[in-house]
Amino acid sequence: MTSKSTKRITPYTRQKEFPNTFNVLNNTLVCICCEHSVSWEHKVSITTHVNSKTHKKNKQNYDAAAQNSQFQTLEDSFSDVESKKAMVKDLVEVFVKANIPLEKVNALRPFL
Ligand SMILES: [Zn+2]
Repeated sequence: MTSKSTKRITPYTRQKEFPNTFNVLNNTLVCICCEHSVSWEHKVSITTHVNSKTHKKNKQNYDAAAQNSQFQTLEDSFSDVESKKAMVKDLVEVFVKANIPLEKVNALRPFL
C-alpha cells in the first residue's frame, strides 16, 4: 500500500489549468505577467496569485502591451498625471544616461 495512483500534478498541469498565464521553467511555474514564480503544488496558491491585486495589475499591463503598440500602452497605463510625471522623469533619466540631448526628449513631449 504505497503510492496510490492519484492524478499526477506537474507544473504543466497547472499551466493547462490557467491558460496564457504561466510558463514552466526548470519545473517551476512562472507567471508570465509578473515574471514571478508561483508554487504549483497546491492549486490554492495559484488562485491566490491570479486573484491578487499585483497580478491583476501586471496582467492588465501585459495584455495591453500585447495588444497595443508601445506608445499606446504608455498612454493607457500612465493616464493619471502623477504617473505621467514619474514616467517623464524616468524617460529623461534614460535619455541622459544614454547621452541623448534633452531637446530630443522635448520633441517627444506631444506624445507624453
Ligand atoms: Zn502574476
